Amino acid sequence: MATEKKEFKTEVQQLLDLVIHSLYSNKDIFLRELISNGSDAIDRLRFKALSNKELVRDDPEFRIKLHVDNEAKTLRIEDNGIGMTRDELEANIGTIARSGTRQFMEELKKGKVKNNPELIGQFGVGFYSAFMVADKVTLKTRHAGSDESWTWESSGGGTYEISEGDRDKRGTEITLHLNESSRDYIVEFRLRQIIKKYSDFVEYPVVMDIIRDETPVDDEGKPKEGAEKQTTINEETLNSMKAIWMRPKSEVKKEEYNEFYKHISHDYTDPLKTIHYSAEGKIEFKALLYLPSKAPFDMFQQEGTRHGIHLYVKRIFIMDNCEALLPRYLRFAKGVVESNDLPLNVSREILQEDAIIKKIEKSVTTKILSELKSMMKKSGEDYITFYREFGKVLKEGVEVDQSNKEKIKDLLLFESSKTEPGKYVSLKEYTDRMAIDQEEIYYLTGNSRSTVENSPHLEVFKKKDIEVLFMIEPVDEFILASFGEYEKKKLKSIAQGDINLGTEEEKKLADEKKKEASGKYKKLIKKVQDSLKDDVKEVRLSDRLTDSASCLVTDDGDMNPQMERIFAAMNQPVPETKRILELNPKHPVIETMNKLFTDDKQNSKINDYAALLYDQALLTEGISIKDPARFTRLISDLMVQAK
Ligand code: ADP
Repeated sequence: MATEKKEFKTEVQQLLDLVIHSLYSNKDIFLRELISNGSDAIDRLRFKALSNKELVRDDPEFRIKLHVDNEAKTLRIEDNGIGMTRDELEANIGTIARSGTRQFMEELKKGKVKNNPELIGQFGVGFYSAFMVADKVTLKTRHAGSDESWTWESSGGGTYEISEGDRDKRGTEITLHLNESSRDYIVEFRLRQIIKKYSDFVEYPVVMDIIRDETPVDDEGKPKEGAEKQTTINEETLNSMKAIWMRPKSEVKKEEYNEFYKHISHDYTDPLKTIHYSAEGKIEFKALLYLPSKAPFDMFQQEGTRHGIHLYVKRIFIMDNCEALLPRYLRFAKGVVESNDLPLNVSREILQEDAIIKKIEKSVTTKILSELKSMMKKSGEDYITFYREFGKVLKEGVEVDQSNKEKIKDLLLFESSKTEPGKYVSLKEYTDRMAIDQEEIYYLTGNSRSTVENSPHLEVFKKKDIEVLFMIEPVDEFILASFGEYEKKKLKSIAQGDINLGTEEEKKLADEKKKEASGKYKKLIKKVQDSLKDDVKEVRLSDRLTDSASCLVTDDGDMNPQMERIFAAMNQPVPETKRILELNPKHPVIETMNKLFTDDKQNSKINDYAALLYDQALLTEGISIKDPARFTRLISDLMVQAK
């Protein structure tokens, strides 16, 4: 096949331009990215070879080799991993823009990445970091078991070329034609330094031919007299390949833990918490787990858990992102689990059902939850950092993990009517400080702190100084449905059903007043209800309003608008639910309406006012109204009338 010249996808091209021109603060990381790709490729092959030994027979010693060429100023990184077929090569390098590309570029443009090129790995576009140091990149690859090989080449301009290759063994080699300012990447010392720093724990040897001109020595190690210098070539391994999780905790330095975390997670920041332990007893395993300090950009996308928990069996890498080892609501955790009790030939499908894996999952879950609990107790600030990033994910556990539900509830934090914006209260703190006669835990759902904070539903609670939790994340709606009780207290939405506050006496008094007002406004309410019959289920007088004229309340058992929106976003059918419009009998507008109505039962203004009260109630909840033009016209009319 002749050479095919192809154009990069626009996004990839833009990315390359940015990589070439903007990333310069820590170029060293290109090597980590390429070695990491090589090591991943070997992992994949080694796993495949468990069931097909033929694949590795010709070259059984896995390794990554660096070759430098002082004349040509090139650095070549070669692995004997799985290699790529032509289709894979096209798909992975150049043509198809991976989902991370766009996001990475956005971060770049925002200037976030400029001083942090390390981010590149997290976005799954690590290969392109080669262009930070090279004018031209030549990649040759041969898929294990295939007799075809392919060469890919690009100078980072708009195009790349693919042609039939001449690589005679499996694996991939990437030759970097180093640019002017990156020539020191052929210096042995520099390479040793970078490998030590970023790739020391890569499990396979990263080797390099070390060339020395030396005078031969005698048996005692002294230079032989009169002998000429000779050139010796020794292949040396530059990394220690230590399986960090197998070492005793006391011997591992924090920096080592942190670097290893970056290696497996493709994150660039240090982890927030490292959890290293071994389980002994019926099943034995070692676990090195990390809680990141920042959520990855794609936490809520399908790919968000690409780098989860790596599973090893008897020192062999089985898979990364082993979902069966962690419940989904802990998917932010990264790390390694190694067990000797599992068979080597496990697959993802088998794992889901495996009893040993289930036990490990249980243990890992308990461990993470208890670590979070002690973090919450001992270092509140760290816990809050964690919670801001991952609280949304953790909350899902309330719904899905019955056995740990109570533990998770203890880990939840919410903003409330008594916290400043961005500050939290736990359920324990809430129940500890609520009045003895308060029987329920009050909450209000909404889209944002400012909407709930200014909600009319809150008025009477503010007046009576009762704390209300703000549930302002979409996931809150889900967990509420299955939440149950906390310390024998039920959760009660202040925007749903009836509200009965105060002592028995106060309640009695309020009831009497309400009865009186109901009698007085009975006909008006009927009229308003008729006028709004297409929009609301009922119109009634309110117990919860002190200042606002109206608010909307969801009937007990009905679906609230936040939930409706979530269902709609998931393309789920949404049952049509009408809400209840509550009017504040103490508000002068009700009296004004009553007067207009008593004077003239047919007065069309009543309909206009009813519509306005309904629209106002929607707007204060941040919900858009059906007919904004009409709303504006009615308001303008009122303004004209005002003197
Ligand atoms: P990431 O490694 O985070 O997925 P990269 O841009 O570094 O992103 O690589 C893209 C893809 O190209 C990899 O997922 C892998 O499928 C393929 N790839 C890159 N380097 C190699 C290699 N040395 N051997 C085999 N496949 C590779």
